[in-house]
Amino acid sequence: MIKFLDLQKINLLHQDEIEARLIKTFRSGWYLLGEEVKQFENNLSAYIGAPHAIGTANGLDALRLIFKAYIELGVMQPGDEVIVPANTYIASLLAITDNNLVPVLVEPDINTYNINISLIEENISPKTKAIMIVHLYGQVIFDAELKALAQKHNLKIIEDNAQAIGAAWQGVRTGNLGDAAGFSFYPGKNLGALGDAGAVTTNDELLANTIRALANYGSEEKYVNKFQGLNSRLDEMQAAVLDIKLQYLDTENGIRRQVAKYYNENIKNPLIILPEMPSDGNNHVWHLYVIRTPERDRLQKHLADNGVQTLIHYPIPPHKQEAYPQLNHLSLPITEQIHREVLSLPISPVLTEEEIKKVADTINNYK
Ligand SMILES: *Cc1c(COP(=O)(O)O)cnc(C)c1O
Repeated sequence: MIKFLDLQKINLLHQDEIEARLIKTFRSGWYLLGEEVKQFENNLSAYIGAPHAIGTANGLDALRLIFKAYIELGVMQPGDEVIVPANTYIASLLAITDNNLVPVLVEPDINTYNINISLIEENISPKTKAIMIVHLYGQVIFDAELKALAQKHNLKIIEDNAQAIGAAWQGVRTGNLGDAAGFSFYPGKNLGALGDAGAVTTNDELLANTIRALANYGSEEKYVNKFQGLNSRLDEMQAAVLDIKLQYLDTENGIRRQVAKYYNENIKNPLIILPEMPSDGNNHVWHLYVIRTPERDRLQKHLADNGVQTLIHYPIPPHKQEAYPQLNHLSLPITEQIHREVLSLPISPVLTEEEIKKVADTINNYK
């Protein structure tokens, strides 16, 4: 069985370093808001190119905290609207609605699965305060038109960078393209912790300070509470692991690019639509390799019967979820088609040549 993602193998690549650092952190007797978090935040900030990085408990909290901070700062108010791609993972919407902001869903481009920038302006209202871009599956969504649109309408650009750490647009990394970005270090992400972890990056010092306080009970000074905050801290053990794995991220993303290239060159089946290769390879870090086919469930069964595990990202779009009755009436045909047809193939830095060949061959045998 070829696993969709072999997390054990991925983390054992760095076994000696990780184990030594975890033992050191364990023995230090200091488990929160210490040197490991500080060092990882500094290294993440340098890697992304944004002057501020703040560790959080997970990716959802990173995004929630960005909106919460903008509300505390008076930049946004409950009831304001945020533009978001309709086919994103539910967490992007939860970060918006948890802050009593209103998500305005915009259809993606069927070829890139990213938000269709040309549809954004018609969805802007006097209440719109932000565009949340999601670099879905690891591919950058950003261009000069989007930047100009945000400037023209005085909108914040917030990046959901949970899936695209390491990708870059014209030499600028995701996480440094907009006003603030949320990262997830969920174990299966390209930079994965050994549990939950996340971060925010921004070049806005006031926003950074507000988020840091909000994530720690709304406190800048112990027992002095400036805001009604929450408890969402990155812990020292996770920061230690992430700080090691960050050093290997570019190499591992490079291997993902090779796997994607192999699939694109070797899967030749007219029933299957392959993802586009971006002309600038840096635009994609291939968190997921997503193909599309009308009879997706039949293909998934064919692969499973032949020992290849696949997943669907995602089977139900946010506007069809029971959690969002206020969105259930929407008709978003491209989004709905994507959710019916997509399938994610195994991709990771630890797949062998034999395994990727088997995946491609099995798809080529599908009729
Ligand atoms: C993983 C993910 C998140 C949430 O991250 P968690 O760390 O699981 O909270 C948010 N948005 C997207 C697009 C994701 O893929």
